[in-house]
Amino acid sequence: MTKIIFVTGGVVSSVGKGVCVASIGRILKSRGVSVSLMKLDPYLNVDPGTMSPYQHGEVFVTDDGSETDLDLGHYERFVDVNLTGLSNITAGRIYSEVIARERRGEFLGGTIQAVPHVTDAIKKRILRLAEESAAEVIVVEVGGTVGDIEGLPFLEAIRQMRNEVGRDNAFYIHVTFLPYISAAGELKTKPTQHSVRELRGIGILPDAIICRADHDVDDEIKNKISVHCDVPKSAVFDLPTVSSIYEVPLILQEEGLGDLAADALRLDGGSRRGMADWREMVKAIHSPKQALPIAIVGKYVDLRDSYISVKEALQHAGWRHGVDIDVQWVDSERVEEEGPDYLLDSVSGIVVPGGFGPRGVEGMVETARYARERDVPYLGLCLGLQVMAIEIGRNAMGLAAADSTEMNPDTPHPVIDLMNSQRDVTDMGGTMRLGVYRCETAPDSWARKAYGEAAAMERHRHRWEVNNRYREDMESVGLWPTGLSPDGKLVEIMEYDRCNFMVGTQFHPEFLSRPNRPHPLFREFIGVAANVVREGGQPPLPEIGLRK
Ligand code: GLN
Repeated sequence: MTKIIFVTGGVVSSVGKGVCVASIGRILKSRGVSVSLMKLDPYLNVDPGTMSPYQHGEVFVTDDGSETDLDLGHYERFVDVNLTGLSNITAGRIYSEVIARERRGEFLGGTIQAVPHVTDAIKKRILRLAEESAAEVIVVEVGGTVGDIEGLPFLEAIRQMRNEVGRDNAFYIHVTFLPYISAAGELKTKPTQHSVRELRGIGILPDAIICRADHDVDDEIKNKISVHCDVPKSAVFDLPTVSSIYEVPLILQEEGLGDLAADALRLDGGSRRGMADWREMVKAIHSPKQALPIAIVGKYVDLRDSYISVKEALQHAGWRHGVDIDVQWVDSERVEEEGPDYLLDSVSGIVVPGGFGPRGVEGMVETARYARERDVPYLGLCLGLQVMAIEIGRNAMGLAAADSTEMNPDTPHPVIDLMNSQRDVTDMGGTMRLGVYRCETAPDSWARKAYGEAAAMERHRHRWEVNNRYREDMESVGLWPTGLSPDGKLVEIMEYDRCNFMVGTQFHPEFLSRPNRPHPLFREFIGVAANVVREGGQPPLPEIGLRK
């Protein structure tokens, strides 16, 4: 029988519940327990794929091509697992499934209700992950906070599960926030009390409470929470705001959350390998290092969560090279208005991440030009590859009107064009080229050097591609396809051979980076960028030539 840890949130959102869940996963895995994780999102979109990054932050893509909540990125990075679409469901998906079954007549004339039909569908999904992952423990996060109307069916479902999987196989953790009243110099527990009361009203009694706070939580506060919320004091955990999210598993472990959950769920703990590796990693993260300014030039920079995997992947690569990445967020529309010089003058490397639609794209093209002309290390991710090809088309191939048909459907020089498979697509949800595909790398390229292998599996999310009609002309000016799909028809990686490091990928390498195993392309990119700083002057000569 699978054991399940359910994590709910109270008081306010954005306190890092996803990181808590990922940390619980890491703690269990470090004890030798196999873990899978799941996020239940109460909103009505079928998945976050059609949502603006401003609404929802990054859309995280799994190997199987599911477009999921960004918390799955935390889960994968902390626990070092590759998840699938089974690990993220929304109310929209559940309802559409139930309604589709109703239309097929599967309920034999019955009245379809939130309880039991919707709750049954939710429980079935959780049990399916348990079955297919064969993990000993599933950690299930309910999105939103207790009190949200749309969250009710999910809370009801996880309440029912306690009896179904057995009381000893379910463990409930509630993550809350303690606000600080500066006039009184005090942290307040009342919102936590109310939130737990609300949860108990639904029938869920938390086994542990994690209190996020921006200030120290003293014993008295823990006592108060213990008394009012009916949990032992040893099950009240305080989680201060820390400078690196990767510290969170260590803090919760030290406070005893791992032991508490393991005892309650009777996990034997396997070999109890402990968290020594993780501790070493966090120590390295905190060791003083030179800062390396890297720009992320995109159009959703106002909401940092829009590029969270990119930011994390940069940090991972920085730690590998002993530098601290100082991310400079640059709005590509500002580059359009002010030009790139001032905004990018002081950075050692530039990333242009993924994006959709024409807004801000000209600023990205200008950014690629700046990087190319000044030989600033450049990493283009999906749209970042496409703008690199557009820029080189315009300024090196002499095609002044080169563009992507996404930005200008009438361009005479569509160097980036819609994939054939996308031409008749009218349904926008889940219809991009999504998920893992094989990419074969060319010898003597950054791609081959980075991966150290002739092929790699990478995650995609796009509709447009490099137009093969221009490939020869691109090569003649130094822009090489150094990663191709196995049939040679889709360009997956491009490199410009007259710059030290100018690499673009049609896929999203950021999704596969891990804190202790940076993605190879990010690693090489930061390696080159860091050398530029350390030697205080010119970049090193290219180690790799693509010239024929
Ligand atoms: N809008 C581009 C496309 O669909 C790039 C997508 C992306 O950056 N993820 O091809």
